[in-house]
Amino acid sequence: MDIEKKLVDELGKNIIEATNEEIYRALVSVVNKAAIDKEERNGKKKLYYISAEFLIGKLLSNNLINLGLFDEVHELLEKNGKNLGDIEELDAEPSLGNGGLGRLASCFLDSIATLGLNGDGVGLNYHMGLFKQTFKDRLQSEIPDKWIDKDTFLIKTDVSYPVSMGGKMYNSVMYDLLVTGYENRTNRLHLFDLETIDSSIIKNGIDFDKEAVDKNLTLFLYPDDSDEAGRKLRIYQQYFMVCNAAHLILDEAVSKGSDLYNLDEYVVIQINDTHPTMVIPELIRQLMERGLSIDDAIEITNKCCAYTNHTILAEALEKWPIGYLKSIVPQIVPIIEVLDDRIRRKYEDESIAIIDRNDFVSMAAIDINYGYSVNGVAGLHTEILKNTELNNFYKIYPEKFNNKTNGITFRRWLMSCNPSLTKYLEELIGEGFIKDSFLLKKLEEYKDDKNVLNKLSEIKMQNKQAFCDYIEKTRGIILDKDTIFDVQSKRLHEYKRQQLNLLWAIRRYLDIKAGIIPEERVTVIFGAKAAPAYTIAKDIIHAILSLMQLIENDEDVKKYLRVIMLDNYNVDVAEKLIPACDISEQISLASKEASGTGNMKYMLNGAVTLGTMDGANVEIFENVGEENIYIFGLSSDEVIAKYKNGSYDPKYYYDNNAEIKRAVDFLVSKEMIGLSGKDHDESLERLYNEFLNKDYFMTFPDFDEYCKVRNKAHSDYKNQDEWSRKCLLNIANAGYFSSDRTIEEYNRDIWKLQ
Ligand SMILES: *Cc1c(COP(=O)(O)O)cnc(C)c1O
Repeated sequence: MDIEKKLVDELGKNIIEATNEEIYRALVSVVNKAAIDKEERNGKKKLYYISAEFLIGKLLSNNLINLGLFDEVHELLEKNGKNLGDIEELDAEPSLGNGGLGRLASCFLDSIATLGLNGDGVGLNYHMGLFKQTFKDRLQSEIPDKWIDKDTFLIKTDVSYPVSMGGKMYNSVMYDLLVTGYENRTNRLHLFDLETIDSSIIKNGIDFDKEAVDKNLTLFLYPDDSDEAGRKLRIYQQYFMVCNAAHLILDEAVSKGSDLYNLDEYVVIQINDTHPTMVIPELIRQLMERGLSIDDAIEITNKCCAYTNHTILAEALEKWPIGYLKSIVPQIVPIIEVLDDRIRRKYEDESIAIIDRNDFVSMAAIDINYGYSVNGVAGLHTEILKNTELNNFYKIYPEKFNNKTNGITFRRWLMSCNPSLTKYLEELIGEGFIKDSFLLKKLEEYKDDKNVLNKLSEIKMQNKQAFCDYIEKTRGIILDKDTIFDVQSKRLHEYKRQQLNLLWAIRRYLDIKAGIIPEERVTVIFGAKAAPAYTIAKDIIHAILSLMQLIENDEDVKKYLRVIMLDNYNVDVAEKLIPACDISEQISLASKEASGTGNMKYMLNGAVTLGTMDGANVEIFENVGEENIYIFGLSSDEVIAKYKNGSYDPKYYYDNNAEIKRAVDFLVSKEMIGLSGKDHDESLERLYNEFLNKDYFMTFPDFDEYCKVRNKAHSDYKNQDEWSRKCLLNIANAGYFSSDRTIEEYNRDIWKLQ
C-alpha cells in the first residue's frame, strides 16, 4: 500500500507543509479506511461483549502497529521533518473506562480480532468519561475529561433505536470505534449515545442536573450514586446500553437468517460484571415482542448469555430497588418477576432468589440463574466464588462455574509501550512470541548470559530515563533514574492497600530523619484515582501528597527517599510508567483482588513483583518461581477465617508494635498537620482514626513482613546481575498472561465461535 500517496491525497498538500493537527486528522482517516478493508462479514455465530467500560487507551500507534503500518508511517513522517510521537500527543485517550475491568475488556477486543474471531464490543459513549484528576492543596479534585471534543477515531453510524425509559421515548445513535486485530481482521466497538446530550449542564467540577436524562445520560461513567437521582441515572444508563444491544443483536441475527428459535447458533453474549445484566430480561422482552412465547424466550436467552464475575467485595454486587425499576423500566419488571418466581418454585434456597425480602433485585442472581456460564477471573478468585461467596449457587449449578484467568494484550503492553525491549527480544528469540506468547520462554536460555543481562538492564535504564524526561516535561518534577523505581499504580481502594505502602514510606522517612541512612535510594511512585464519593480513599491520597510535599522540601531526606504521586493515572501514563518500573507493588489483602492485570503488565516489562498471594499474583508466583518474586502477608484462608471469627483488632497491633504506632501517629504529627497552615487537618485525622478503629483491610498484621520483604528486595537490587536475571525470568514466564491465551479459553469453553 502506498501510504504516502494516501496521506497526501487526504491532506491535499505535501506532508512537509501540513501541521501536526492536519496530519493527525489525515492519519485517522487513512487508518480507519485501512481498518475497514479488513472487516469480514462472514461467520454465522457472533460474540457480543457488553461492558459499561472500555479503557482502550490512545489508538493511533496501536492501530498502526496492528495494521502493519507503524514503521512505514514513522519513517515517512521523519523523512518530512515530523515526529509520530508529537502527533500522538494530539490523539485524545478515549475516557470510557475506570480501571482493570475496562482495561480487560479492551485487551479482550484486541485479542478477539487478533485471533480472527467474530466478536464486537457494546458499550456507551461517555462524553466526559470518568473524570480528570487534578491535585489542589494536596487534595484530589475532579474535572470533566473532555476527550470527545477533540478529533477522534469515532465513526458515526446511521443505526438508531427507540428506547423507552421513565415514560419517555429516546432515540439512540450508535458510534463505532474500529478494533484492529494484529495482522488480522477488524471488529467493532459499538458505543450508544443520545444526540441531545448537553455538557453545558455541568456546573463546578463534575456536578450536573441528575434529573435531565435527555441531557445527561451519557455525560459521565459511574455518575455519583450517593443519592437517589444518581442511582436512578445508573439504571437509565444500564438499560439504555442493553436495550440498544438487544435490538442490534436481534437485527443482525435475523439478517443472517436466524428464526430466533435458533438464536444461540448466531449469538453469544458475554456480560462483563453485573452492569449489563438487564440484557437478560430485555432480550426476553424483545423476543416476545417478535412473537416468541415467554417460555421459548427465556430458554433461548439462557442459551445465549454468559456472565463474568469481577469481584468478591459484597458492596460491588449490584442490587436495585424494584421500585426504581418500576418507575424507569416498567416493561421488564413483569419479566423479572417471572424469572424470580420460577427460581423460587424450583429451589428451596431463598439466597439464590432474584428479588429479595426487601424488594431489591440482585443482578448477579439474574446472571447466574439465567446465564449458562459463570466465570471468575483468576484461579484463586474462582475457588473463593465456588467455596464461599457464591457457594449456594455453585451447589445448584456446579457445571456453570469455570475459571478464565485474565490476560493482557502484548501488542499494547509490550510492542507499543516498550519498543526497545520488543526489538531486543526479537533479535534474541525471533518475532514468534508476539502471536504465540509462550515462545517467550525461549528467553530462559539466556538467563546466565552476562551480555544479555547487561543489555536488559541497559534497556530498563533507558526506559527510566525516558520516563524521567516525560515527568519533567509534563509535571515539572525532576526524578533520578539511578534510584530504585518502586511503583504502585492502580485505582485507589483500601483493599489494594496504598495505605500499607504509605506506612512503609513514613517509616523510612522517620528512620532517615533519625539518622538511619538506608543503603539503597528509592523513588516510590503512586498513580491512582479515587472515586469522587469515596472519602477514605481521598484521605489516603491526601496523606501521600502531604508526605510527598514534606520530602520534596527536605534536601536531607530527598537524597535517599522520594515519594511521588502522579495525577490522572490513565492508560497513556501507564504505558510510560510500566516499562520504567523496577519493583511492582501488588499488595492487596489476600482474597480481595479478583485477579489484577497491572501485575501482568509489570511482569512482562521486566519488573519484579512484591506482592501477597492474591488474585493472579498466585499464578505469577507459580510461573516465575519463588526466587523471582517477593511474597509476604496473610494467606487468603487466614484472612477469610479472621473475618469469619471477627478476631481482628487493630488496637492490639498499635499498642504492641512500636513501629506501627510511630508510623500511624506521624499522620497526625505537627509536621503533617502543619502543612495545612492550621492546627488541624480533618482528612489526616479521619485516616488516623480509620487505622486505629477499623483497618478493615488488615494492614497492621502484614506490616512487619511487608517491610522486611520490601527491604530485602531493595538490597537484592544492588546485585545487578542477579537482579537482571530475575527480570529476564519474569519476562520469559509472562507468556501465560497474554489475553490471547485467555480468549482462546473463553472461545473453547464458552463461546464456541467458528
Ligand atoms: C491495567 C490498568 C489498571 C488495572 O490495574 P490493577 O493493578 O490490575 O488494578 C488500572 N488502570 C489502568 C490505566 C491500567 O492500565
